[in-house]
Amino acid sequence: MNFKIIDAHTHIQFEQYDKDRSETIERAFFLGIGMINAGADLKSSQDAIDLADKYENGIWATVGIHPTELKDFNDFEKIQQLSKNKKVVGIGECGMDLYREEDKKNYEKQKELFEKHILLSNKIKKPLVIHCRQAFPEMIALLKENKSKLISEPGILHFFTGFTNEAKELLDLNFSFTFGGLITSNRSFDEVVKYIPLEKILVETDAPFVSPKSHRGQRNEPSFIKETLETIAYLKDKKIQEIEDVILSNTKRVFDLDKFFK
Ligand SMILES: [Zn+2]
Repeated sequence: MNFKIIDAHTHIQFEQYDKDRSETIERAFFLGIGMINAGADLKSSQDAIDLADKYENGIWATVGIHPTELKDFNDFEKIQQLSKNKKVVGIGECGMDLYREEDKKNYEKQKELFEKHILLSNKIKKPLVIHCRQAFPEMIALLKENKSKLISEPGILHFFTGFTNEAKELLDLNFSFTFGGLITSNRSFDEVVKYIPLEKILVETDAPFVSPKSHRGQRNEPSFIKETLETIAYLKDKKIQEIEDVILSNTKRVFDLDKFFK
């Protein structure tokens, strides 16, 4: 099958799709949309692999422990085991989240866990899928400290919500960025989308969360990704076809997907 675009960060293995998972996937495939399902803890990482294994092509997985899922903190060895699977194309989601008071208390633990993901990415040569909420200065400092351990395509800042100065520091480390449904309705991301070179931009849905404008309040899914592409095309003043082609090749480059298309 020929994919036109790949949803670089979604969660179709989650229970929200238990009743219509295969139909959700068919709706995406019908539009030429593939997907990378991100694990957020041990179970959802395993489930992401199982789902990817059910399909010959078009579905991949990433494995990791989200910074607010510290219940699995002591199970990182199992994530290391899972990361060896052929369909696993990235490490994460991992990162830092200092949004809630209870998460701020776990700062040191989050940092330790994130560093384990960085080391695993280095060891297994698969890119990082980074979640960062209200923690850009702390996270950028940690990435700089670990600069020698980042691989040549170090990964993505998923659902990027930083400013242009933060984007610049991350571009200097060669990271790429994914944008999702939020940019279709919230104009405060226009500047950063315009600032980041198109070659460093990927798209995601983060489904079931954060639907684009026309589906607001509904459960999100990969087949809704077009609106995000349209917004990027508009902001970059380019044709949607051109945007799609560049973003597809960016996604293949970052996640080393070419080997699946031979
Ligand atoms: Zn996510």
